[in-house]
Amino acid sequence: MIENSSENELFTVINNMPGGLCVFNFIDQYPYIEVTVWNKYMEKITGFSREEINRTGIFHVCSIKQEQDCINKAFTEMNKKETLIQIKDIADMNRLLKLKISSINTDKIKESYIVLASEIPENTDYGNEVLRIKESETILREVVDNTADLLAIFTPDFRIKYISPSHADVLGYPLEKLKSMRMGDLTYLGEENIIAKFGNDLIKSKETVKCQFKILCADHSFKYLETIGKPLYNNGLLEGYILSSRDVTARVKTEEDLVKSKKRFRTLFNNVNDAIYMYKLDEEGSPSKFVEVNDRACNRLEYTREEMMSMTISDVIPDLKDIISYIIETVESKGNSLYEACAKTKSGRIIPVEINSISLDLNNEKFILSISRDITERKEKERADEFERLRAEFFANISHELRTPVNVIFSALQLINSRINDTSLNAVLYKKYMPVMKQNCYRLVRLINNLIDVTKIDAGFMKLNLSNVDIVDLFESITLSVTQYIEYQGMSLLFDTNVEEKIITCDADKLERIVLNLISNAVKFSKSGDSIFVNLMDTEEKVIISVKDTGIGIAEENQSLIFDRFAQVDKSFARNREGSGIGLSLVKSMVEMHNGTIEVKSQLNKGSEFIITLPVNLVEEKSEIKDTRNYLISDNVEKIKIEFSDIYSSQG
Ligand code: ADP
Repeated sequence: MIENSSENELFTVINNMPGGLCVFNFIDQYPYIEVTVWNKYMEKITGFSREEINRTGIFHVCSIKQEQDCINKAFTEMNKKETLIQIKDIADMNRLLKLKISSINTDKIKESYIVLASEIPENTDYGNEVLRIKESETILREVVDNTADLLAIFTPDFRIKYISPSHADVLGYPLEKLKSMRMGDLTYLGEENIIAKFGNDLIKSKETVKCQFKILCADHSFKYLETIGKPLYNNGLLEGYILSSRDVTARVKTEEDLVKSKKRFRTLFNNVNDAIYMYKLDEEGSPSKFVEVNDRACNRLEYTREEMMSMTISDVIPDLKDIISYIIETVESKGNSLYEACAKTKSGRIIPVEINSISLDLNNEKFILSISRDITERKEKERADEFERLRAEFFANISHELRTPVNVIFSALQLINSRINDTSLNAVLYKKYMPVMKQNCYRLVRLINNLIDVTKIDAGFMKLNLSNVDIVDLFESITLSVTQYIEYQGMSLLFDTNVEEKIITCDADKLERIVLNLISNAVKFSKSGDSIFVNLMDTEEKVIISVKDTGIGIAEENQSLIFDRFAQVDKSFARNREGSGIGLSLVKSMVEMHNGTIEVKSQLNKGSEFIITLPVNLVEEKSEIKDTRNYLISDNVEKIKIEFSDIYSSQG
């Protein structure tokens, strides 16, 4: 019938349809419309005439904001479903409309939409039910729109289906723009993989998936979102994903700042120039294993961190066990304890250190924190200063030593000179002053010899003149050659040995000087009635030579000093018993040139014993064994006089 009807008849039919019909197309841009058909029923249910609605926005009919979304939905679900919308008419009456939109695009009609609308009376069961659902939908939407959390619903292909307005506040985009964006548009550069993984996890998972990522803001900065996502299923079909996010930027930044400052402190901790150790004390008050050490400590002590963590501070500061109770006591009473010690490295190197220990309370646990400073340089400087002091003292002393014999010789010469013409007196004067002058010449020679030797040793010029020598014979001869002299001083000299003969490779001259020096000291620091013992003991691989006296002895605190060059222990005594303080340092150097050692055992007022240990090493026999007997007797009288020149002698 319609086919044959005129246009007028068609309009009559459309206008009298028991339902609304509207045909429109968009002009320029959505949502402005040009309405071509708007039948009477449409006028009745909306209250607008075609002229009124034409060229206005499609939402003009909706005064309830949310209904715009319903219209949008009607478009997205076009051709598929009916959509229920609620509008208000001119008289502000609520009306429920059922809409179905479909599109047409033919040669004659270009891209238009046909809307079929019918009214659902409000007072029917169905109408009420629809209104109730719509109302709770409105409440729900209000809740969702206004939660602080960021809620969004994505379609299965990650288009935004719903996005809560809070996103706009956090990310800075206008809400309308956000609605048209995809997940990819919000991805911050560098976060692609994290977001792609999150998307994949969501696709695979039926449960909630958690993720934290950076999201791009409108001003190109980023915010950290902590997001929980869950796929939405309807009758087993994936409808999309619901994402609930929280802006955790402040928290993450604080955490990052914390990590950064932790890193900064760790770098500082590891790179300070001091070694730092932290440890606890066990019930007995002994240090337990380290709980923390810095890199500097590991490097300095040549251990790896793992090795260090299985050690205690006593392993690296071996002397600590003797003073640990003192340290703890001072830490507790004074707050800290400062002490000097020696740290031992893995390879056995000794480093002088100054350790400052404090007590530290961490999470209700008590620790000792020790900061150890390498004081090698300071110690070396102290040693250099001490050496410098000794040298200055030595020169002051040596000028006295040089001047005294010269003065004696000079005075004797003056005396002889004053009587030079008195021939009757000449012989008496010469006899009286000659020995004095001679002995003082020996003293000068000894001093000069010693000075030359010290210089030679310092310059590395002193060499050993090695030969195979029977040292039993050598020492016996030396002892014999001075026995008479010593007995003259009212003292006794005894030589003892556990072997008849012992041949070693050595420099006989140097050994002779060593022993003469020690015997001369023994005489110098003993008095009439005292005894001197020279012992030689052979233990196969070593020879031990001891020179012992029952003289004045050396106080314990001075025993480590006497081998230092220029050291004179007791100035008041030294002045009585002349000396320059280089004798023992020369002796030590000469013993060490033989790869031997020298030590002293002494007790004040009881006596002293100097013990020399020499290794027994024989060189390939080149020459005969030296006959020390003749050698000594022939030229040793002079040597003895020189070595003994410090001791005032009335014998001459
Ligand atoms: P000096 O030339 O002054 O004797 P030494 O180096 O031989 O120098 O000795 C250093 C110091 O060691 C002496 O000044 C003395 O105080 C002490 N000393 C050395 N030997 C003895 C000894 N047998 N008994 C007591 N003191 C000694």
